[in-house]
Amino acid sequence: MMKKPIIAVTSTYDNGHTFLHKDYSEAVLSAGGIPLAVPHMVAPELLDRLCEAADGLLLSGGEDIDPNLYREEPLPGLGTLTPERDHTEKLLTERFLAADKPVFAICRGMQLLNAVAGGTLFQDIERQCPGALQHRQLAPRHHLSHRVEIAEGSLLAQAAGFTQIRVNSFHHQAVKLPAPGFRVSAEAADGILEGIESQSHRYVLGVQWHPENLAASDQAARNLFAAFIAACRNRKGSGAE
Ligand code: MN
Repeated sequence: MMKKPIIAVTSTYDNGHTFLHKDYSEAVLSAGGIPLAVPHMVAPELLDRLCEAADGLLLSGGEDIDPNLYREEPLPGLGTLTPERDHTEKLLTERFLAADKPVFAICRGMQLLNAVAGGTLFQDIERQCPGALQHRQLAPRHHLSHRVEIAEGSLLAQAAGFTQIRVNSFHHQAVKLPAPGFRVSAEAADGILEGIESQSHRYVLGVQWHPENLAASDQAARNLFAAFIAACRNRKGSGAE
């Protein structure tokens, strides 16, 4: 029997605690992976070893990204920052990209991935994108709020199994300029980017919504986790390093 892949999942650090919502760990478990929550750590040799040991990286949701990460000054409307988390996630993401191991980035994770790879963000959609839809829904977590158009032929379309879906939405930041080597793989009706993927890695993709909250109700969300875990497992099986 094929061994289950180990998935490093980034966490929130708050007041001395490391948090990971159970929806992330349960989505990974349901798809056949072993979730491993990553605490704050930045020593290069530890992160090298973690990247070597894990088969994939799940960048989870959370607070805003420090605009210093994409060479911009803070604007009014920028929310709470978590600089320690930014630091750990930047170093981890760089390692997984360099090793070409699968990365699945959710909400803040997609923004972090884009910033680390050289792209930029809108710091606050309402202030910087007049006419945008409501992307911070007040409906329950599992409610499918707005439409997303997924690009035909993209890795995301293949992973999700659909090109037109409805998604939940809990963000006020968004990808502005996709990182070099990345393509846009999903958009909302207002042009806000809802998915990006690398064209120079085997499986590196980000979504702006929260599929981990939709596992009970949405086939596309389950497909996304299944495809990510399959990519992690295949990479493990290939013996490539
Ligand atoms: Mn949205």
